[in-house]
Amino acid sequence: MDNITASELAGFGVGTLLLCATIAAPKIDAFFAASQRSSLGLCKRCGNLRRIACTRCRGTGSVREGAIFAINLVEDLYDTLGSKSGKQEPCIKCQAKGYFLCPDCSRP
Ligand SMILES: [Zn+2]
Ligand SMILES: [Zn+2]
Repeated sequence: MDNITASELAGFGVGTLLLCATIAAPKIDAFFAASQRSSLGLCKRCGNLRRIACTRCRGTGSVREGAIFAINLVEDLYDTLGSKSGKQEPCIKCQAKGYFLCPDCSRP
């Protein structure tokens, strides 16, 4: 006894195709975006992110007093232990944004 009819089979096929399309869509999008970017030429300064991470606060938007040049690992350790060394201050260089707009490609 064959329970699978032609329409069920077709439905299954379409379902599988749709599923594949759903899974593949972001990859296809990414592929086209990537090929588009390479054909347009990536921004050398920011890689088309349109922003550059602030070197002073390393993209966090805030700096610890007197800890600007401290080793990251030590700061991270302090963070993990929950004992913040020094107080957090908004970064002056980037106005606490953590990044700058890329002067090459983010013009309005
Ligand atoms: Zn740029
Ligand atoms: Zn900054």
